[in-house]
Amino acid sequence: MRVGGGFVAELDRQRHEVAAPGDWTYASAPESRDIVHIRDRYGYFIDGEWLEPAETYETIAPRDEEALAAVGQGTPADVGRAVAAARNAYADGWSSLPGSERAKYLFRIARLLQERSREFAVLESLNGGKPIKESRDVDLPLAAAHFFYYAGWADKLEYAFPNRRPRPVGVAGQIIPWNFPLLMLAWKLAPALACGNTVVLKPAETTPLTALLFCDILRQAELPPGVVNIVTGDGRTGAALVESEDVDKIAFTGSTEVGKAIQRQLAGTGKKLTLELGGKAANIVFDDAALDQAVEGIVNGIYFNQGHVCCAGSRLFVQESIYEPLVAKLERRLSTLRVGDPLDKNTDVGAINSAAQLDRIRELVASGVEEGAEIYQPPCVLPEKGYWFVPTVFTNVAQSYRIAQEEIFGPVLSVLTFRTPEEALEKANNTPYGLSAGVWTEKGSRILWMAQRLRAGVVWANTFNRFDPSSPFGGYKESGFGREGGLHGLEPYLRFDE
Ligand code: NDP
Repeated sequence: MRVGGGFVAELDRQRHEVAAPGDWTYASAPESRDIVHIRDRYGYFIDGEWLEPAETYETIAPRDEEALAAVGQGTPADVGRAVAAARNAYADGWSSLPGSERAKYLFRIARLLQERSREFAVLESLNGGKPIKESRDVDLPLAAAHFFYYAGWADKLEYAFPNRRPRPVGVAGQIIPWNFPLLMLAWKLAPALACGNTVVLKPAETTPLTALLFCDILRQAELPPGVVNIVTGDGRTGAALVESEDVDKIAFTGSTEVGKAIQRQLAGTGKKLTLELGGKAANIVFDDAALDQAVEGIVNGIYFNQGHVCCAGSRLFVQESIYEPLVAKLERRLSTLRVGDPLDKNTDVGAINSAAQLDRIRELVASGVEEGAEIYQPPCVLPEKGYWFVPTVFTNVAQSYRIAQEEIFGPVLSVLTFRTPEEALEKANNTPYGLSAGVWTEKGSRILWMAQRLRAGVVWANTFNRFDPSSPFGGYKESGFGREGGLHGLEPYLRFDE
């Protein structure tokens, strides 16, 4: 008894002598970039070979504007070569290969991506600006999972579509954006190849490097030449691919504006088309929701990937009775987000993808202030070089403000309020978009009531931004048409005529 008492007294004495740490900031934990070898110059990957480009541009690291490599600016002639290679590969065996053989290639690609995942994650963060913990824990595992998933379907298409004689479409032209460069490549390539199509893919201008590294994987997997061809370049290269006469299907992910132009261009050509466009998702919090959980979901919904997410929960609807405590919790949580070097493993919010995107975000944020919304930004020291934007919350937002209507595609949240479920629904659906939505409540019946009425392709309940290859993803209205993922994701790459 006396010994124990003495021990406690000693601990007490020590506690008073050692000052409590006053600074809890994280020590930096940078991921080494040595694992990636970036070449000085990249050409196009056509027919299994590297083709030297006539013209190049520099791709940079948005965290410090470092020039990373010179990349080809694809011309219509380059696109034509890639399409011809894809056509030959289609006719020369790929389309008639048994599904079980195609599956082997996809399984191989999936395993190779897993094996080399750290290398890809570092390159993705370097070229795109997203935090390494996201590319490491989200982009890469999901990209590999997509190939695994569609490998499983390759020899089961007749069971997936009984009595409908599923056959490949032909050559698919695929145009992808810069927010999830490798993941979007996986979303596009895996179902197309599983169904027996060949592909010409154009990565986004600002983020071509993981797609170019992926060509190594295609070679390692010994995919027959011409089955996948990659032509880099800006919007002109994408437009040349859309115009190409020998392409049977276009799959596009990007802005609604370009999506509409592509739809106009393809009208009447008989080519198949899927469009995955923008969004302005409503994240709706009822007064019976678990608030701390909801705050985590709201933060994940809008600050994940710097808000460069088509399904980002950019409009927060809060039931009036919990508005004040929720906003207070949200602002407190915002002040703990770590903004900075994408390669630092502690970073929560990385760099904005490009100078052009930063300008767009700044312009829309300025319009919010001008129209009368109240802005909150936590104290934050931003790096001097590179493209950065402080996580931002707007309160006192009217439905008509641009920040409540237009897709900002940045770390900017607009908070609005509602009183009844009917009002929440009406406000949530008051947008030209319809990609995703979130509902936070403890009542299952209310979740179902809302989910049935929300005009959104995906509705998350008590969570946000959850993805799985087996789950179809896609929009209503100006968010596009067609689904990616799941059984539904096979259909755009198949024809069923006799
Ligand atoms: P774009 O729609 O321009 O880019 C998407 C892809 O299409 C890129 O590969 C792009 O090439 C290509 N492209 C551009 N013009 C054409 C064309 N005429 N024909 C065929 N392909 C084309 O989006 P931005 O990068 O300009 O971003 C603008 C806004 O779009 C963002 O602020 C955001 O609101 C929204 N957006 C939505 C995305 C989504 O996932 N739904 C993804 C990206 C953006 P290049 O990169 O060379 O321009």
